[in-house]
Amino acid sequence: GADLELRGVSKRFPGFTAIEELDLTIPAGSFFALLGPSGCGKTTTLRIVAGLEEPTTGRVLIGGKDVTDAKPFQRPVNTVFQSYALFPHMTVIENIAFGLRRRRIEDPLGKAREALRLVELENVAQRRPAQLSGGQQQRVALARAIVNRPALLLLDEPLGALDLKLRRQMQLELKEIQAQVGLTFLHVTHDQEEAMTMADTVAVMNKGRIEQMGAPEELYERPRTAFVANFLGQSNLFGGKVVSSSDESIVVDVHGYRVEVPRARSQRHSGEVAVGVRPEKIELHANEPVPASGINIVGPGRVTDVSFSGVSTSYQVSLPGLGVVTVFAQNRSFGPVVHEGEQVWLSWHVEHGFG
Ligand code: ADP
Ligand code: MG
Repeated sequence: GADLELRGVSKRFPGFTAIEELDLTIPAGSFFALLGPSGCGKTTTLRIVAGLEEPTTGRVLIGGKDVTDAKPFQRPVNTVFQSYALFPHMTVIENIAFGLRRRRIEDPLGKAREALRLVELENVAQRRPAQLSGGQQQRVALARAIVNRPALLLLDEPLGALDLKLRRQMQLELKEIQAQVGLTFLHVTHDQEEAMTMADTVAVMNKGRIEQMGAPEELYERPRTAFVANFLGQSNLFGGKVVSSSDESIVVDVHGYRVEVPRARSQRHSGEVAVGVRPEKIELHANEPVPASGINIVGPGRVTDVSFSGVSTSYQVSLPGLGVVTVFAQNRSFGPVVHEGEQVWLSWHVEHGFG
């Protein structure tokens, strides 16, 4: 694999800016996900990397080489789209060998067979695309892209057409294949779970800009903006005012509640701030907990909804001044911990908050 670098890349369409001053470096051999809502500029970014779209400003470098003015076929890049666009009249193996034949590459069938082995489809080599399931077709499309050994593989929502269960399975397979072939993968998706499961680095994109970039755990545990906090899973965010701060933490007054946030996990240390805590980090208590250092306690509040979903239960708790707080609890025992209408207190470890 090769590394990819975008330097100050913008794309303006008449009357609309799709991408704004994008700076991005993707290390060789990494699995990188560009994550963002529909319309945020993901596909436009990929098309610029592939050479299908010309950037209005900025440069594109692949493996250290400036390819901004290179034609698509001159770039060491292949793209897998959501619509696989396989040739319907050709067998699976011919679909994969087609590009190799055209470029007069030696032993196209041998190489195609090897690619099919990688995606575990040797047994359907002689079938036509219409005789395959959606997941199998997707794997053929992947094999066809990989057989060229591009330095950089671009994936534009390639699993979008598959049903949930198959998508989850393909996510793991794709990750395995990437590890085996060692190519650089740039994967575009609007599915936060998919991005976090597969990628070693995730860039969260919003309105043509990257809001935050980092390892999945880092983005989840230390989101720097409300957009990132809410796009990657669910968050409870409270507005408050800093009343004191030390080297270790800041103390925020949130509607009369004292909420402490580690200084290292907060961006502002005075004035008005937003503090957040993930639903699964909160504990529910039927009785008022004894205050302890390192623990934030708020309450009492009232349980307004209990939604059981098998692995976990989601509770909505209404607290005067704070609004409605969401709490997820793992169902380690039978039945809910508390019931609708009951009074509860909430607590969480100071280190689990962010601001
Ligand atoms: P995503 O892939 O994240 O859903 P896109 O990159 O496809 O987003 O599009 C980003 C924005 O740019 C969208 O608002 C889209 O309507 C706009 N856009 C994309 N291509 C064109 C074009 N050729 N002309 C005008 N606007 C475009
Ligand atoms: Mg798109």
